[in-house]
Amino acid sequence: MMRTTTHRSIKEWKDQLIRQDEIDRYLVDGKDFIDEHHINKMLKNNCDSDRSRIREIIKKAYSIELMSDEDVAALLQVTDADLRKEIAEAAKEIKKKVYDNRVVTFAPLYCGSKCVNRCAYCGFKSDNSSVIRKVLTMDEIREETKVLAGVIGHKRLIIVFGEHPETDADYIAQTMKTIYDVKVPVRNGMGEIRRVNVNAAPLPIEDLKKLKDVGIGTYQVFQETYHHETYGEVHPADTLKGNYRWRLYALHRAMDAGVDDVAIGALFGLYDWKFEVMGMVAHARDLERLYGIGPHTISFPRLTPAVGTDFDSTTHQVSDEDFTHLIAVLRLAIPYAGMIITNRETPQIMESVIDMCTQRDAESKIGIGDYADAYRTDQIAEREQFLLNDTSSLDQVIRKLAHQGHITSFCTAGYRCGRTGDKIMGLLKSGTEGCFCKLNAVLTFQEWLEDFASPQTKATGEVLVQKEIGEIKERVPHDFSENTYKKFLSDYEKIKTGVRDLYF
Ligand code: SAM
Ligand code: SF4
Repeated sequence: MMRTTTHRSIKEWKDQLIRQDEIDRYLVDGKDFIDEHHINKMLKNNCDSDRSRIREIIKKAYSIELMSDEDVAALLQVTDADLRKEIAEAAKEIKKKVYDNRVVTFAPLYCGSKCVNRCAYCGFKSDNSSVIRKVLTMDEIREETKVLAGVIGHKRLIIVFGEHPETDADYIAQTMKTIYDVKVPVRNGMGEIRRVNVNAAPLPIEDLKKLKDVGIGTYQVFQETYHHETYGEVHPADTLKGNYRWRLYALHRAMDAGVDDVAIGALFGLYDWKFEVMGMVAHARDLERLYGIGPHTISFPRLTPAVGTDFDSTTHQVSDEDFTHLIAVLRLAIPYAGMIITNRETPQIMESVIDMCTQRDAESKIGIGDYADAYRTDQIAEREQFLLNDTSSLDQVIRKLAHQGHITSFCTAGYRCGRTGDKIMGLLKSGTEGCFCKLNAVLTFQEWLEDFASPQTKATGEVLVQKEIGEIKERVPHDFSENTYKKFLSDYEKIKTGVRDLYF
């Protein structure tokens, strides 16, 4: 298989990667958008808001606009359990208002564990000799995809890479093409991956255009910590990742490359969680300032133990109570963004916060090449970046979600119909995207039930589908025209007879 960089030395590759002008152009008066003095002042000045002010802020959040720093700081500083509960209830309502009862599922596909960086907390760091280093060949990517799309039934992946010349932009693009090309016969149709999101190191604009050309869904780069000093402590200065600003503007460059679905995140546990939330809001604000749209999704992974790292995560460890609260605040602060919770969390936490979130992974394996061993349930620490807490199957996850009233959506219509970037943001804020999504959720869910569900999950899922169809009917002609409704019912029947990939 083609490997474009094997002839290049790691040093040559590293030296040409970071383009200083692709940082400097975004700075204002030589400063980046994380103004620590301002953030600390906000947190200090808004630490004792009374109940009525908090309720005012909650009310404002229903306008589905990015929240002011003062208001976010005030919400973050709430410690009273009852008031936190009110914030959480509002977060659930806002999730429902923007995204209804849909939860999108996906799986990560780890493609390479080789990495030139030495992030203190990560199992893939280059000086960790306990981890097996491997970069999947295109044949192996195909084998992994066959399991994901043909056995488990995923339609959406996030592909994940260490930062290494063997997994450069050409390799990432080739991986995406390989995944999109895989079609696997399943019970009644063909299994396939319809959306490939990418979690990779920051790239220059030229490389990001290559990913745009092969149909990237969302480009995800977590800042890890927005706090400059802490960033420097956990990412050694002599590594690529040691460049805080190259990373901070990764998504700005993506926007300039035409990749307009971008995803922010912070790794909670490295620094004060309140500061990180303020940092994420500042990130969203700067994207809005320059591009008119904020992040498509936000992630809030909590540090989990990784083999071969002795990183002491106790100082800024986030308790379950604070974690739940920060998710609620994020929901209100950046209300249009999708929110992703992952299997790093326990099933109990997943269950308690899913009402505020829009996406979760399921049946994930984060060992390199592990899906091809689909029925192995043990996690092999030496192959993994960190360890997972929820290892339920997709079928179990979907059934549980259905019992809780959530419909699992496998919809990938958005980017395939050009509903990305500012188009989707406008639709989300006005509630119009919700209409398309509701129809697509039912169609794709039924498709999954036909092709992959266990008898028990199919029975549970179909009860939910009938309820959804009833709701859709009630919304004719206000939200859906008679014709749309008729076409939807006809598509739904077609799916039951084996027609696939129908969407609005
Ligand atoms: N190498 C690329 C990078 O660092 O951006 C992308 C992939 S990295 C494998 C994906 C994410 O995993 C990182 O951004 C980090 O937030 C998260 N991660 C790393 N170590 C972790 C740990 N011990 N616990 C939880 N998440 C971790
Ligand atoms: Fe490499 Fe990413 Fe892990 Fe850092 S977090 S060591 S860059 S894989």
